[in-house]
Amino acid sequence: MEYKKLAGGGIGRRVTIFFMSKTKRLVIANWKMNPQTPDEAKAILAGTRKATESLKYTEVIVCPSFLYFPAAVKSITSKVRAKMRVGVQDIFWEDRGSFTGEVSAAMVKAGGGTHVIVGHSERRALGETDEMVGKKVAAVVREDLTAILCIGEGERDVNGNYLSFLKQQLSAGLSGVQKRHVGQIVVAYEPVWAIGKSEREALTGSGMHEMTIFIRKLLSDIYGRDIAVQVPILYGGSVTPANAGDIVSEGHTDGLLVGRQSLDPAQFVEILKIVDSIS
Ligand code: PEP
Repeated sequence: MEYKKLAGGGIGRRVTIFFMSKTKRLVIANWKMNPQTPDEAKAILAGTRKATESLKYTEVIVCPSFLYFPAAVKSITSKVRAKMRVGVQDIFWEDRGSFTGEVSAAMVKAGGGTHVIVGHSERRALGETDEMVGKKVAAVVREDLTAILCIGEGERDVNGNYLSFLKQQLSAGLSGVQKRHVGQIVVAYEPVWAIGKSEREALTGSGMHEMTIFIRKLLSDIYGRDIAVQVPILYGGSVTPANAGDIVSEGHTDGLLVGRQSLDPAQFVEILKIVDSIS
């Protein structure tokens, strides 16, 4: 793996691919509590897999509900094995025991999952605290899975207090992650005010560039620069084909976390193509 300093001061993560050197990107599909039926889930999986087949530089992580998780794992054929993986939207921090309704990271691993979204704002809104998020991230890396740690402020203020809020979310989320496990961390910056809105209300590419630099600096303060540059930083919040290119290229991000549009294969295919075409 090689890393390069991007024009404009950001630090990009670069993976050398055998036929040419191009930045590798990551796109997470967060299905949330959708769709309503297994047949719909199968149709979305088939569309996503088809789109993934033609990708050269982009890896897709599909995160369905636990109910559709086995079907998603099963849908991965040899053609897409290297670039499509399955994750889940949450786990519990204990490995086993009397925790009704919960699922452990070990179960996800045994079922063929590789990634876990942790600390999504919709879970935090249901009462998940920074401490719980930290315990979940630690449980994920303990199982050798990758944690997609979501951070994001509810609103912005002119004094920049939201930056301290993000710093607290990030450091609490990573409190149980030692240097040797940082390769299993992805940070998804998802400003809550931009989730579930129209593309016009999403963060812009230049706005994301500031956040990429800020988050990279926080990671550097915790783990040192050499390790910090290895952590993919993604953007999430009302991504569509209309803004995906700007956010990834101008935002100097490593990819996207896509909610609603990941349920619409036609739109999702467009997003994937755009991301894959950015050098
Ligand atoms: C999300 O929930 O993480 C998300 C990014 O949703 P949407 O793309 O629908 O705004």
